Amino acid sequence: MKASDIKECPLCLSKDRQVYEVDYPFLGYQDFTVIKPGGRIGECLSCGLLFNMDSFEDPAFVESLYTDKAYLEKKETNHYVCSSEYKQPVTQYFLQARLLEKYLPENPSILDIGCFDGKLLREFRELNPVSRLHGFDIDCQRRPLLPEDVVFWDKDLNKIDGTFDLICISHTIQYIEDIRMLFIHLKRVLKKDGIVFIQVPNLIKNPYAALYGDVHYYYTPQILESILSFFGFSLLNIDEKNLFERDIVCAASYVGGNNPVKVLPDPIIPGCIEYFKDVEQRLLKFKHNSLGIFGTTINAGFTSAVLGSRVGYFVDENPSKQGNYFQGKQVLHPDKLTRDNVIILPYGRFGSGMYKKLSTMYKGNFILI
Ligand SMILES: [Zn+2]
Repeated sequence: MKASDIKECPLCLSKDRQVYEVDYPFLGYQDFTVIKPGGRIGECLSCGLLFNMDSFEDPAFVESLYTDKAYLEKKETNHYVCSSEYKQPVTQYFLQARLLEKYLPENPSILDIGCFDGKLLREFRELNPVSRLHGFDIDCQRRPLLPEDVVFWDKDLNKIDGTFDLICISHTIQYIEDIRMLFIHLKRVLKKDGIVFIQVPNLIKNPYAALYGDVHYYYTPQILESILSFFGFSLLNIDEKNLFERDIVCAASYVGGNNPVKVLPDPIIPGCIEYFKDVEQRLLKFKHNSLGIFGTTINAGFTSAVLGSRVGYFVDENPSKQGNYFQGKQVLHPDKLTRDNVIILPYGRFGSGMYKKLSTMYKGNFILI
């Protein structure tokens, strides 16, 4: 796709669009550092698709980030999730494989698009030692990271040979520029009763997801559902327990048909911009000099960019983060906190459960923003 193609919607081809200037820092998905001081998000006025105007102006930029050697070394794949189902934090791959298990036939064949080091495929292998596993990623440097028995495909979805009971697209769909081509290939390689699993940040649950600077698209459940329906897929909510609080988690099966794209309700980006403005004003009122920030993802990255040198440390329950540094500051476990520590929880109205739990379990002075 050429840069000029963004003049029309990559999904419905409409030329009607609204462009929003977002004057807040945009962060990278790899390590949540600021990659540009502001950006532009386009919204298709026909189908509601939200796209990163800047990534389409320079499409090689996104790809170069993910084929870079430094990315392979830096990428953090140990994302832990605290779930009421399990006593200890567990990895996202552990939960994903268990969510999907009941939808799989015996000896399933599974393809993971955006497989990176194969952690999700390994979880399926744990549950079902005889499944046939395939991984796809954008460049061949991933091959050595994968288990030997995984069939690996690189660069072009067209290369993938075989049909699958399950195709996983976890935290990957927002990077796939040519959505139409993606669905052509999904239909080609999905078995008749197979399902496609998609997990992607949910802009409704977490407005900060609009600040990813290195993605092509931003998703809400409505946008994803509209796209799936357009390509003849029907949706199944598989995360009834809401294990992934800030993501869209769904499975889709191909039912056929070619439904028109739905016109979506009110625009969402102006609300996100208002949200950032409000958070910024509230953060700048803090007079403390060594504030803590809870978390080590985009919410924490944004908060840190606003507070600058007044951030003293980060706090995270994730066992793989302990003793490490995030944006040059130490990451502490919350059990190291005292009553004198003031820790910002940048999770808005969806963070009240987290606030309650942390305030009960640990000594710090937590403030939900
Ligand atoms: Zn459109």
